[in-house]
Amino acid sequence: MSGWGEAGLLDRCEHLRGDAAWVLRQWGDPAALLLAVDSAGLVSVGGAGLSLPDRHPSGAYDPQAHYLLGLTQGRPVFVEAGESQQAGGLRELMPVLPDAERELVVAAVALVNWHRTSPHCGRCGALTEVTAAGLVRHCPACGRDRFPRSDPAIIVAILDADDRLLLGHQAVWPTGRMSILAGFVSAGESLEQAVHREVAEEAGLRLSGVRYVGSQPWPFPRSLMLGFVARAAGTGIEVDGVEIEHARWFTRDELTAAVESDEVGLPGEASIAHRIVAQWRAGILPSPEG
Ligand SMILES: [Zn+2]
Repeated sequence: MSGWGEAGLLDRCEHLRGDAAWVLRQWGDPAALLLAVDSAGLVSVGGAGLSLPDRHPSGAYDPQAHYLLGLTQGRPVFVEAGESQQAGGLRELMPVLPDAERELVVAAVALVNWHRTSPHCGRCGALTEVTAAGLVRHCPACGRDRFPRSDPAIIVAILDADDRLLLGHQAVWPTGRMSILAGFVSAGESLEQAVHREVAEEAGLRLSGVRYVGSQPWPFPRSLMLGFVARAAGTGIEVDGVEIEHARWFTRDELTAAVESDEVGLPGEASIAHRIVAQWRAGILPSPEG
């Protein structure tokens, strides 16, 4: 999790998953794993605390209910919608799981959320059927294929000329919780335009530079968070008072003191916000000027 640009560890097998015989062989592989995601988006976990269960597929493969996530370290992994006796949320699981498993559970939740919320064709309304081992929903009435969707959202670390960081408090958060600003990308809007708009709306600031730093899938229920760092053209903050209740600039020392005294609570470890703030505190967040 140090850099931003690594390849994924999950092989999604997009070129193989249309081959039904190959998919059946993966289902029958003695090493195959079957995860479950329940209606609250919680993932089945194993007996000993927060680890993935060693649960193998049993019974017949049902292409409408068993979705192939792909191969991880050569091991086929499937997921189904279903309740389990022990389950954990992504916010709990992501900080403690190894990288390969963290990627699996995020993919599992995202895929099951999509199937659960998209049973009908968006064009003609007919009931769709699952194809490509869980990656496509095909409409038998109009022939259209639908693929899993993500909703893009931007999240931005705003720095002033002295490299202070802007943190805001959302009205809906518990007292003391602060984070960097974020918001959904509007229809027909570029990511950079969304950054400028959100920062103007929520904090009343103009930006002199915006740079992309990295992204994170955030399947609550289907966001893709796109992280940026930006330089504010000034320091005068005017919060909207609706979404953002208050905001302020922090030096690294001020933030450390505020966190240690419990005056400020930072975002949870699973989030891209945590990662961006941690990189700024460590002095390794890329500069907005490149
Ligand atoms: Zn249709």
